[in-house]
Amino acid sequence: MDNSMSDVLNVSEMFGKNVFNDAVMRDRLPKSVYKKLKKTIEDGAELDPSIADVVAHAMKDWAIERGATHYTHWFQPLTGVTAEKHDSFISAPSDGKVIMEFSGKELIKGEPDASSFPSGGLRATFEARGYTAWDCTSSAFLREDAIGVTLCIPTAFCSYKGEALDKKTPLLRSVQAVNEQALRILRLFGNTEAHKVTPSVGPEQEYFLVDREKYLKRRDLIYTGRTLFGAPAPKGQELDDQYFGVIRERVGAFMKDLNVELWKLGIPATTQHNEVAPAQHEMAPIYSMCNLAVDQNQLAMETMKRVATRHGLVCLLHEKPYAGVNGSGKHNNWSIGTDTGENLLDPGDTPNENMQFLLVLSCIMRAVDRHADLLRQSASCVGNEHRLGAQEAPPAIISIFLGDQLDDVVSQIVSNADSIKLLTSSGLDTGVSTVPVIKKDATDRNRTSPFAFTGNKFEFRMVGSSDSIADANTTLNAIVAESFCEAADELEKAADFDSACTKLIHDMMTEHQRIVFNGNGYSDEWVEEAERRGLPNLRSMVDAVPALLTPKAEALFTKFGIYTKAELEARAEIMYETYAKVLKIEAKTMTHMAGKHYVPAAITYTTRLAESITAVTAACPQADLTVQRELLEKVSLRLTAATKALNSLTELVEQVDAMEDVKEMALAYHDQIVPAMAALRKPVDEMELLVDKSIWPVPTYGDLMFEV
Ligand code: ADP
Ligand code: MG
Repeated sequence: MDNSMSDVLNVSEMFGKNVFNDAVMRDRLPKSVYKKLKKTIEDGAELDPSIADVVAHAMKDWAIERGATHYTHWFQPLTGVTAEKHDSFISAPSDGKVIMEFSGKELIKGEPDASSFPSGGLRATFEARGYTAWDCTSSAFLREDAIGVTLCIPTAFCSYKGEALDKKTPLLRSVQAVNEQALRILRLFGNTEAHKVTPSVGPEQEYFLVDREKYLKRRDLIYTGRTLFGAPAPKGQELDDQYFGVIRERVGAFMKDLNVELWKLGIPATTQHNEVAPAQHEMAPIYSMCNLAVDQNQLAMETMKRVATRHGLVCLLHEKPYAGVNGSGKHNNWSIGTDTGENLLDPGDTPNENMQFLLVLSCIMRAVDRHADLLRQSASCVGNEHRLGAQEAPPAIISIFLGDQLDDVVSQIVSNADSIKLLTSSGLDTGVSTVPVIKKDATDRNRTSPFAFTGNKFEFRMVGSSDSIADANTTLNAIVAESFCEAADELEKAADFDSACTKLIHDMMTEHQRIVFNGNGYSDEWVEEAERRGLPNLRSMVDAVPALLTPKAEALFTKFGIYTKAELEARAEIMYETYAKVLKIEAKTMTHMAGKHYVPAAITYTTRLAESITAVTAACPQADLTVQRELLEKVSLRLTAATKALNSLTELVEQVDAMEDVKEMALAYHDQIVPAMAALRKPVDEMELLVDKSIWPVPTYGDLMFEV
């Protein structure tokens, strides 16, 4: 009892301890300054530069009291991970002494140069200036690690000309767009109280843990974050005994430590459990406003990696660390809500009569159907290639899952039913209260849908575990803003709002009903059915990149000032470039491992076998040596195959790497190198099952997944 009481107290005490949050600002800033800053944070009013010095001063004092020596503008370049350059607070020494300083200018603007980040041609080297600018809507925080305590200031990162070089800037622009357009919809329904509509996001983060010593023996894990070789262990995930299973002590100690670190950073980590694959786990925070959720997810990923090392573990965020068992994703739960506490995706008890909800739903159906290609693209990253459209879920085809009840409502609307009835099937025992009923349907019954309605939010399940969720949310916000905008344009000029709105809902649902699919998204039949419906099936990241460059995408993103044409082109180029680079590293890691580890091990083994055959024959000429001879032959055959595959992969990489055009190069990596990598893996994995374990040079799948 005592124990649990003190635990509770500790959590509330430690939560947000390292965040320069609203309470700290209220406490430490002069009232007028606090009010002005708050206006910027909440209403998007332009930041008054005159208050910057005061805020910076308070922030510095607060940070220094907690041991901070340095500050950094923390930003999110197009690498998908975060970046930082630290500066100390110390002034130029005078009389051999320093004082600690931090000005408003240093808070608001940084010029890290940072010219080596991918810019997709947005920054020529002669105009290499890059700026970071304070995003006061995401709180500054203190990071404690081996370096000491660092004050981290979330920032946007732009070129000299103001073009976005990061993931935050477009995201913030998209948040603004959805706010403006959603407010127009609310006003049409007579809502004059709400002043702001914000998307909220709760990302469920999956990850693997592996013993650090074993990890360090695998160059593939070190260089690429995933295994490039490895025969399946005798046991995988077939018994489902890991999923939601009892958490092992060492993993539990990691989770406990992780929670403490996340809570101190104000990240409301709440859910933790074992996932489907051995050594796979999940952490989910309570949702927060979109921009903050994106930052906090980046921070959570960094924290997971750091905390893991304290426990002699490594946290693998790669989408597919091991072949043959589930990979990791990030379910991006998304909804939109008002500052007055209304969730626009809440159907209420009677969604069939809830005109506003039905309009919002039909707008989302139109958005997702029209921009299925962009949404799929937004979840593309190289690691996700092994999940989307590959052996694993969710499929690369975008569809919406609504659950039986809403699906039925949509069907009735489409078929012009006189009055829309609410389906209450016998399986749904709670009867009246609609939200829990829908939740029951939606969450469990269809885990195969990439975009599932789950009660009062959509769950976009395609995002990769290592990827930033910024792109996915930027796209979601943008496509929904566009759809809202068109609806508002039409309805604002309607003479009879009710009938115009009813007609619009009917028309949108009819036109876009093809995007709704409640069946098994993993089945082959769905692939065929989706093709009949005309839904795009972009299997690979390289197939998805062109979605950024269509006139439709340009019209969407430029309309709301989210991306310029140049920014879109830059992003497409970076996607191709990244794909080619990652594949090159993977291919080279494979040739390295095959040449340095596997081939020599196989030679040692076959030589020993041959020597023992000679020795045994000498000692006992009539001894039966069939087993040894067969083994020798089997391993030798695979050794030959592996060496051939190794040589052709090496040659191919040289050829492809010499290509000039990045798109062509990415396609060549996809079409030629990927199969060549598989061809090398096969004989090596087969040898692993034949060769003496004491000679095998690296830990096996069994060692990695079952000895954590
Ligand atoms: P699941 O059945 O998918 O596990 P949960 O209710 O546990 O559903 O929610 C998963 C995630 O969705 C959590 O991060 C949760 O905070 C988030 N979530 C819940 N409501 C919303 C919302 N309105 N907007 C965004 N995310 C939400
Ligand atoms: Mg979920």
